[in-house]
Amino acid sequence: MASLIGDPIERELVTLHERLKHDYRGETSASIPTLEHADHRLFGLAVCTPDGYVSAAGDADVEFSVQSISKAFTYALALSDRGLESVHEHVGAEPSGEAFSAISLEEETGRPDNPMINAGALVTCALVSGADAHEKYERIHALMEACAGRSLGFDETVYEEEQGASDRNRALAHFMRSAGSLTDEVDPTMEVYLKQCSVLVSTRDLAVMGATLATGGVNPLTGDRVFSGTVARHVLTVMATCGMYDYSGEWLLTVGTPAKSGVSGGLITASPGQFGMGLFSPKLDARGNSVRAVAASQDLADRYELHALTLP
Ligand code: GLU
Repeated sequence: MASLIGDPIERELVTLHERLKHDYRGETSASIPTLEHADHRLFGLAVCTPDGYVSAAGDADVEFSVQSISKAFTYALALSDRGLESVHEHVGAEPSGEAFSAISLEEETGRPDNPMINAGALVTCALVSGADAHEKYERIHALMEACAGRSLGFDETVYEEEQGASDRNRALAHFMRSAGSLTDEVDPTMEVYLKQCSVLVSTRDLAVMGATLATGGVNPLTGDRVFSGTVARHVLTVMATCGMYDYSGEWLLTVGTPAKSGVSGGLITASPGQFGMGLFSPKLDARGNSVRAVAASQDLADRYELHALTLP
């Protein structure tokens, strides 16, 4: 994993880190104690190019629970296992325009709107192939590791805390069982979902995972194909339209790269063919996105015309 001190991308990230590190707006997530009491000064930035060159600044090696960013990778696995049509029968691809934990399903089909909100993620967990919750989770964990190019840890404390704070997600799962969109039992589905949220990643890992999506499914560090180019395209599309909670539309307008954020303050973005980026800072805005990560992404997108729909 090369990182040459003084390389131009790294200089850019270091400057951005300096400029934004005193931005203390927002609040850490109050959902579980570990997130609520996270060190809010932490701020990491990393970029990985398609040839596997990683540049980083700030706290890029500090680990945190991946939380909702895992949803993109579970969706990739469910698509690889079953194909788009079969997955689409159970989970839609429409921005919900509602909070990530909203209890709402499409009226006609009983499907959750998309795989990036909690309801949709619970359904995609159930769609991953595996004999039981343990096997499904192990496959999701292994896929995330293949995208990061290294072994990823698991935060037992976060998992325990998530279990104690899961009433709303459990209610969602029951609701979807009755609507027919959740194909597994509630308990194993909750186990897979809460475990996938508790996997540990660093900002540097997110950059490599983003680059794996940006290259069309090949990890640029290991050279391994993790999923097909078609799956990468499907995932990036849904990230572009639904990845930033109920800020997704404005994000697409102003930043314009496929992205997924999580309540621990992580953010992954992928610019197809160009780079993957990881950002991390625990304080969140009212929509649940990391304040500094959004500010840094917006700054870079403006100055380097990173919007996916930039015209030549
Ligand atoms: N474990 C969290 C939940 O489902 C993840 C939320 C998130 O990162 O958006 O409540």
